[in-house]
Amino acid sequence: MLLRLQKKKTKTSSLTFLDIKPIMKMMGFFIFNGFLGRLSYICNAYRTYVSHLIIYSLSMDLFNVYPINPINIVRAQGSTVWDAEEIPYLDLYGGHAVISIGHTHPHYVQRITEQLNQIGFYSNSVEIPIQRELARLLGEVSGKEDYHLFLCNSGAEANENALKLASFYNSRKKVIAFSKAFHGRTSLAVACTDNPSIIAPVNETDNVIFLPFNDEEALSTAFKNYGEEISSVIIEGIQGVGGIREASVSFLRLIRTLCDQYASVFIADSVQCGYGRSGLFYSHDYAGIEADIYTMAKGMGNGFPIGAISIAPKFVATYGMLGTTFGGNHLACAAAVAVLEVIKQDSLIQNAATVGSYLIEELRKFDQISEVRGRGLMIGIDLPSELAHVRKDLLEKHRIFTGEARPTVIRLLPALNTTKEMADQFLTAFTEILEG
Ligand code: PLP
Repeated sequence: MLLRLQKKKTKTSSLTFLDIKPIMKMMGFFIFNGFLGRLSYICNAYRTYVSHLIIYSLSMDLFNVYPINPINIVRAQGSTVWDAEEIPYLDLYGGHAVISIGHTHPHYVQRITEQLNQIGFYSNSVEIPIQRELARLLGEVSGKEDYHLFLCNSGAEANENALKLASFYNSRKKVIAFSKAFHGRTSLAVACTDNPSIIAPVNETDNVIFLPFNDEEALSTAFKNYGEEISSVIIEGIQGVGGIREASVSFLRLIRTLCDQYASVFIADSVQCGYGRSGLFYSHDYAGIEADIYTMAKGMGNGFPIGAISIAPKFVATYGMLGTTFGGNHLACAAAVAVLEVIKQDSLIQNAATVGSYLIEELRKFDQISEVRGRGLMIGIDLPSELAHVRKDLLEKHRIFTGEARPTVIRLLPALNTTKEMADQFLTAFTEILEG
């Protein structure tokens, strides 16, 4: 019975199926195709979603710490830079006082290219003769032939090493720094920088004493109170970030006297104001004194990262006292040698003095400017707040790059081979803006 029923059922269903087979086939086709279509749509959507995830979520973005101008500089020569639309700009900013002999100087390019074709890098564990070549040239051009050279990679690192070397030297901990000073962002360099917003809690220290800039009385009192504890005094000859403010001759001389008296170390931060920018190799030279350690970077490599400290003969080096992996590498030294060769060959320090004096003199004729400060090609134009737009106008209307020091100081930090014609181009643009 059961068998019969099954048979019957089978038969019936078979018949039924046979009857609707073409319809089912067609439906199946559409259903299957629909399913495939939906499946491929879902797959595509998923693929798009994943690729978007990769592009927008997983791709690395820049850590957004710099407010930037929306200009893409793609090419440069001398003091001219071009953006991606081939629009030329006059560069009186030098990439923040870095460009000393002009962009892509042929001798510089040739030296670096030749060096790279020989060897770009080997560590400080072997002889690197080009380091001695650089030391010899730097001693000659800076007039400090009896000093010793330690090479590193940046301005902050130079200051960090100088402060550390001073502390090794006199086994003391306290450092005197000044209001509005900027010395870099490494641990102790930033602690000596008068900007609490960039000092991380881990960099805070009681070892740094801040004094008012150019205040001789405050300096003398600090030495009276802490003299035996003061390891070093660090000072820019001309403050850059602080708004192009010159240390007075008498202040620098007093630092020299007190450092001698208390066996403290005089550190001349020449990262921005050095390397010929002021019209003398070190701006501290205007005071006719010698610092114990000069720190430098920026113009030293004309864009190639290199920093250094020039160390007075009284400091004795011991193995391991200072060190770096990259500092003094072949390529960086080739860049720095090329820079000094051009500075020497083309008398660029003299040019900075001449063109700088001309610019300063002309700028001082504008009644609207609150104050013109600086020396050589390190010039600060202090503007009243109603003229705060001038820097933006220089860039947007006249295609001239300048720097700034907040709130309203325009900083000129051009290459040392800036010509009088370029100075005039700037002065014309400046006049036009002021005349509205
Ligand atoms: N010292 C001075 C006077 C500077 O102007 C700067 C940079 O602007 C530094 C030190 C730090 O140099 P770097 O940015 O190469 O570390």
